Amino acid sequence: EVRVRFAPSPTGALHIGGVRTALYNYLLARQNNGTMILRIEDTDQTRFVPGAEEYILKALEWVGIKIDEGIGVGGPHAPYRQSERKPMYMEHALRLIAEGNAYYAFDTEQELEAMRERLKTAGVASPQYNSITRTQMRNSVTLTEDEVKDLLNAGAPYVIRLKVPRKEEVRLNDMIRGWVMVHSSQIDDKVLMKSDGMPTYHLANVVDDYLMKISHVIRGEEWLPSAPLHVLLYKYLGWEKDMPQFAHLPLLLKPTGDGKLSKRDADQMGFPIFPLDWVDPNTNEKASGFREAGYLPEALVNFLAFLGWNPGTTQELFSMDDLIKAFSVERIGKAGAKFDIHKAQWFNQQYLRSKSDAELVEYLLASLAKENISCSQEKAFKVVSIMKERVTFPKDFWEQGKFLFTAPAAFDEGVAGKKWNDEAVKVISAFKDEVAKLPALDATTAKATLEQVTASLGVGTGKILQALRLSITGAGGGPDLMMIMEIIGKDEVVNRIGFALQ
Ligand code: GLU
Repeated sequence: EVRVRFAPSPTGALHIGGVRTALYNYLLARQNNGTMILRIEDTDQTRFVPGAEEYILKALEWVGIKIDEGIGVGGPHAPYRQSERKPMYMEHALRLIAEGNAYYAFDTEQELEAMRERLKTAGVASPQYNSITRTQMRNSVTLTEDEVKDLLNAGAPYVIRLKVPRKEEVRLNDMIRGWVMVHSSQIDDKVLMKSDGMPTYHLANVVDDYLMKISHVIRGEEWLPSAPLHVLLYKYLGWEKDMPQFAHLPLLLKPTGDGKLSKRDADQMGFPIFPLDWVDPNTNEKASGFREAGYLPEALVNFLAFLGWNPGTTQELFSMDDLIKAFSVERIGKAGAKFDIHKAQWFNQQYLRSKSDAELVEYLLASLAKENISCSQEKAFKVVSIMKERVTFPKDFWEQGKFLFTAPAAFDEGVAGKKWNDEAVKVISAFKDEVAKLPALDATTAKATLEQVTASLGVGTGKILQALRLSITGAGGGPDLMMIMEIIGKDEVVNRIGFALQ
C-alpha cells in the first residue's frame, strides 16, 4: 500500500517548493489508491509561528490537494502533530541507549564551543561531535554508569545523541538519484532528544514514518544530507526492512538558474513564490501569494508539476486528474528546476481561456463592483469576448479594459507623435460627424462608416486607424476597434473623439 506524507514545519508561510512536494506526494498517492497523510513537524519550539498550520491547510485546500489522514482529518495513527507525540520519541531514544546505539551527553554550551574552537584551531573545517571527539566530552560513553546516574538524578540537563559507527559505508537507494553513499565519519553524532525533552527532526521523522507505515518519503533535496543518518536510525531501531523508499526532489532555482530560488529574488522581480498572501505575526514580514496575484489553482498545479517532472511528450496542459494518470517518480529529474514565472503566466492564460464566457463575466463583474461601476450582462459578455485572448489574470478584464468603461485619462504620446497628423485629424473629424448622424452604432456600421469616409477623402483606412484608436482608447493597440466602438456606443464614440480633437 502506498502511504505518503507531507510533513511541513509550521515556521511561516508554506513556500511554493513545499506545495510542489505536497503535490508530488499527492499524485503518487492518488495514482495508487494510496493514502496522503498530513503531519505537522513542530518539535522546534523556537521556530513555531502561530497561524502557520492554518496557512498550510488553506493553501493545500486551495490548490486541490486533499488530505486522507492526519491534521484536520484524524486517523488511526493520531495524534499527527509531533509536539503531541513526545512520549513515543523518548521511548525509542531510551531503547537506542539501552541497546548501545545512543548515549546521554551532558556537555554545556561552553564545553561544546571550546571543543569546536579546539578543532578549528587544529584545522578542521566543520567540527563535529563524533566517534573521536565524543571520547573527550562528558557523556555516557566516557563517564561511569554511576556518574551518569548521579547526573540524571541531580536533574543535570542532557541531550541524547546517536552513536554513529566509526567506519561504515552508509548507503541508500534514492528513487531519483540512485545509490547515495556516505562514509559514517562524515556523519555527526546528531542530537536525537534535546534538553527540553523534545525530539529533534531526525528522530521524530523516522519514528513517525515507521509508526505511520509510510511507504515513500518524497521531499526536497535539502534533506538528502540527512538521509544517511535516517538510514542508520532505521537500522538501529530494527526497522530496516520497513524503511520507506526515498525520493529527493530537485531544487527550485532562480529564473536565471544561478542558485536557489529565494523570497528576496521573487520580491525584487515582483512575482509571488507562496501560494497565499501572508503576514508573519512576529516580524510583520509580508509574503505575496499566487492566489491573490490572480493565478488559478489549476494553472499553479500544472506549473508546479512541471518543475522537476515532465511527461516525456509534448503535452503541456494537465488537469489534476491527468497528472494523477501521467505522473511517475521515474520521470523526475535530478537537475534543479528553473522557476520561470512567464511559464506560470502562460499556464494561467491557458486555463483562463478555457473557462466559459459566463465564468469570465463573473470575474469582470467582480472587479467592476469594487469600482462601483455598473454594467449590463450584454455589455459584460461583449467585453469578455474581445478581451479573453489577451488577458493573463482575471483582474485584467478590468485593468486592461478600463477604456471600455471610462474615457482615457491620457493619450500615448509616442503613438500620438507618429500617427496624429493633419490627414488623420481630417478623417477622424469627418468620421465623428457621420457617426453622430447614425441612429445607433455597432461594429458593422462603424466599419462601413469609416470606409465610406476614408474613400470619399481618398485616404487609406490603414493610415489613420491607429490615430482613431488613440482618440477612443488612449493607446495605440488593443482589441478590435470596431467592437470597441460597438461596446461603448455611439454617444461615447462621438464624445471621446470630440475631446481628442480639441
Ligand atoms: N519537517 C520537514 C520540513 O519541514 C520535513 C522533511 C521531510 O519530509 O522529511 O520540510
